[in-house]
Amino acid sequence: MRFRRGRWREIQIVGISMKQRQNTMSLLLSSDALAAFLPYGRQRIEEDDIEAVVAALRSDWLTTGPKVGEFEAAVCAFTGAQYGVAVSSGTAALHAAMYALGIGSGDEVIVPAMTFAATANGVVYQGGTPVFADVDPETLLIDPMDVARKITAKTKAIIAVDYAGQPCDYEALRGIADQHGLALVADACHALGGTYTGRKVGTLADLTVFSFHPVKHITTGEGGMVVTDNPELAARMRRFRNHGIDTDYRQREAEGTWYYEMTDIGFNYRISDIQCALGINQLRKLPTWLMRRRKIAGCYNDAFRDLSMASPLVLMANREHAYHLYVMRHASGVIRDKVFRKMREMGIGVNVHYIPVYLHPYYRRVYGYAPGLCPEAERAFSAIFTLPIGPGVSDADVERVVASYRRALAEVESHE
Ligand SMILES: *Cc1c(COP(=O)(O)O)cnc(C)c1O
Repeated sequence: MRFRRGRWREIQIVGISMKQRQNTMSLLLSSDALAAFLPYGRQRIEEDDIEAVVAALRSDWLTTGPKVGEFEAAVCAFTGAQYGVAVSSGTAALHAAMYALGIGSGDEVIVPAMTFAATANGVVYQGGTPVFADVDPETLLIDPMDVARKITAKTKAIIAVDYAGQPCDYEALRGIADQHGLALVADACHALGGTYTGRKVGTLADLTVFSFHPVKHITTGEGGMVVTDNPELAARMRRFRNHGIDTDYRQREAEGTWYYEMTDIGFNYRISDIQCALGINQLRKLPTWLMRRRKIAGCYNDAFRDLSMASPLVLMANREHAYHLYVMRHASGVIRDKVFRKMREMGIGVNVHYIPVYLHPYYRRVYGYAPGLCPEAERAFSAIFTLPIGPGVSDADVERVVASYRRALAEVESHE
């Protein structure tokens, strides 16, 4: 997108509240503000990333060649998981996880209300029913007590979402899962690089899902992966991403055979070698990028500790946060909306993560879910927003965000 000087452009704000979204609220900003618009998150692509992609384009394999396995091995080495299955998106990875566990019609899977819709959609694709659990108001992580309350005879799995990048309470969740014979899945699309009691995200659940969308920690353009220590589940997901066929073209070429069998119905959820070449190169930078994310979060934590109308989410002592998002809570929805608008006027790309999934029209219509189901998630949704964070956010950007936020809060406070 390009912005010309001296022009006015309309910027759409999405996700403030359902009502405002329907009305497609918009805001006018001058080109000067737009020139310095700071998004809440975006990819970082450097010259060596471009070279890695070009090298893949010049190679013999554009898709399902050596780079896919190399990327899977690199993510396994980083997370400590044994098997990785790379696919075309984080959403495909969630679908593959539900398939691998055999989720089907009549099965219930417990998911947190406070997440991106794809977490629950993976259950729906398999014909299962997502059952929403509420979140802890201090961390916005799935509340194990509410998970326990939502278990029925039909429950087959729990999907924990490491919201914003802080790992969930895996000890409590594992206890509940084991007690009821349920599978435990981590939607760790926010948490690549996080730890829980010193154990890395990727080893805390039966299956762990990552996304490589451009706003996430590292990107492949579009892409995702499931990691696991279970070889049978990994084999099922490998078939699933390739139409349900038991071998891939490269394996057959290596074995000098053309014969293959489709043993189950699958999808084309493959990721390309071009994308994995980018992913491998990005992963090398992840440790440095994680340090940068934590540094920025530390600055925000210090700056926003003593505000009267807003507070950061609570950080648990036994975890290392991966800070995909930096989320602030406000004293009320009215204050959030006012501060949000002022921040956008100042060119700060605040955003809202997320609308409780069951409030989306699809979930209301098809499953009959209604407001009131998960009160903490609904309360949080009306009062939170996300501030810019990421490896591309400079010290000067951080100072600007802090100053803008303090100013916006002070202006709103003086009118309260
Ligand atoms: C990004 C994200 C997804 C989906 O990943 P895609 O790669 O965009 O399909 C799923 N769950 C959560 C929590 C996410 O943040």
